[in-house]
Amino acid sequence: MNVQRHFSLQFVFLVPALLSLVILSLAITNYYQTVNRYIDVEYSRIQRALIRSTKAVAAIDYSFAAFKEKRSDLFLKHSRIVEDGLCRMWPIDALLTGQQGTMVASPLKELNYMMVGSPEMCDPQNPLYRRASQQVAMAPMLSFLHDFDSYLFGVHFIDREGYVFSSPDTLSKNITKQLLDTIRARSYWIEAAKSEPQISLVGPSTSRIITKRILSLVVPFFFKEQYQGMISLDIDAPKLLQNSQVLASNIRIINTRDETIPFSARRVHKVELPEVQTHHALYYQIDWGSEVQRFFALEKYSLIVIAFIYMLSVIVLFYVNSNMERSHFKALAAKDPMTGLLNRRGLEDFWRNTLKSGDIALAVLDIDNFKSINDTYGHDIGDKVICYMADKIEHNIRGTDAAARFGGEEFVIYLTCGDRDQMQTIMQRIKQQICEDSHLIINGGFTVSGGVKVTRVSERSDFEKLFKAADEKLYIAKTSGKNQLVF
Ligand code: GH3
Ligand code: MG
Ligand code: MG
Repeated sequence: MNVQRHFSLQFVFLVPALLSLVILSLAITNYYQTVNRYIDVEYSRIQRALIRSTKAVAAIDYSFAAFKEKRSDLFLKHSRIVEDGLCRMWPIDALLTGQQGTMVASPLKELNYMMVGSPEMCDPQNPLYRRASQQVAMAPMLSFLHDFDSYLFGVHFIDREGYVFSSPDTLSKNITKQLLDTIRARSYWIEAAKSEPQISLVGPSTSRIITKRILSLVVPFFFKEQYQGMISLDIDAPKLLQNSQVLASNIRIINTRDETIPFSARRVHKVELPEVQTHHALYYQIDWGSEVQRFFALEKYSLIVIAFIYMLSVIVLFYVNSNMERSHFKALAAKDPMTGLLNRRGLEDFWRNTLKSGDIALAVLDIDNFKSINDTYGHDIGDKVICYMADKIEHNIRGTDAAARFGGEEFVIYLTCGDRDQMQTIMQRIKQQICEDSHLIINGGFTVSGGVKVTRVSERSDFEKLFKAADEKLYIAKTSGKNQLVF
């Protein structure tokens, strides 16, 4: 009898582990998709911010040209000072508001800009003073746009004559004479004079004036086809990228002409801005440590569920195992090992667990003169005879009936069938079948006798009583000539 007694220990631990792995991979996929969705959202936010900044630069450029066209000498009241070889000028807010009747009370009152240039700029007799006076009319516009969005750091204009005009004033305040000379000599500005009046995205680089990673939208300003200077809108790159707010790793932006995209970069996305020259790309700089940490934080509850499922499946399998083992031993205890039929205990269990109603037949069959079969052919052939008989009985009863070996060569059959006569016929057929082919097992074959008790049963019927009645009929069959059934 090859019965699967229980699952192996590997099975008990590995199957739940596999199940948990499948669920874990779903959680990882979910995390991966969430990260990708966030990256998409962030990329389009950054792209929109850059487009918005481009519009601001275009607006400044347009306003510069419009003011120059009008040639309005709007040199507002300023404080000015010459020190360390530089002229600095900044607005006197109160006076400014009072003088300019057109200016409504608004945040623009708080103008925040400064011009810095060579000392001649502070001299009203000098042409540089006059040139600066025309451009300073743009101050409110610059001051307004420099903090229009939180990621904008500032706006500055570097005039071809070398003075710098910045909002907020921090930029200008930090400029030294040496730096001003360096800016003037920079090939970038010289080249810009010859370039197309097109907006370009430059950086990110660390500003020499203020230590910040700055990304700039720059445009050379031309008036009547003459180069006037360079307008630059400075974007605080870390603020624009807003890293570590929604994503575990960082989004970075690089100029692909100056730098190569690192190996660990994921989701490389070319920055494309209408009418702007860019060689930039956004990418996701994956940091596995942070990603794992974020994964555990985000999928905390999924992981708890996975651990719970794992433990529960192991416990369930252990429980199933012990149940299988118990029923296996129970089945073993109810069976006759030689024939595979039920033993006495098995049949009694069957009786207990069967709904008892209507007519049944309980038969006790016994091989005639079995002792002499044993003596003549040996014990092994005797066993063969027992197995042969068990086989014949099993093949002639239905699944709802039961057959048992009660020890030796004595068999008990429980038979249900609506009709009493039919039950007698079945029993006769079984006996006939056993005897008919018995010569195939031993020379001359053998016969059997039986006592059959056919009776109406109810839930209260007693098995022992019934068995005894059938056994008494067997005794009659044996003592009155054998090879017969007594009903
Ligand atoms: P009767 O016709 O009156 O039944 O005579 P009998 O010789 O069959 O007598 P009885 O039923 O008392 O014989 C039982 C014999 O069956 C005694 C025992 O040696 C033998 N026997 C009991 N169990 C086994 C078994 O498992 N294998 C074999 N080969 N013989 C068994
Ligand atoms: Mg016998
Ligand atoms: Mg016997």
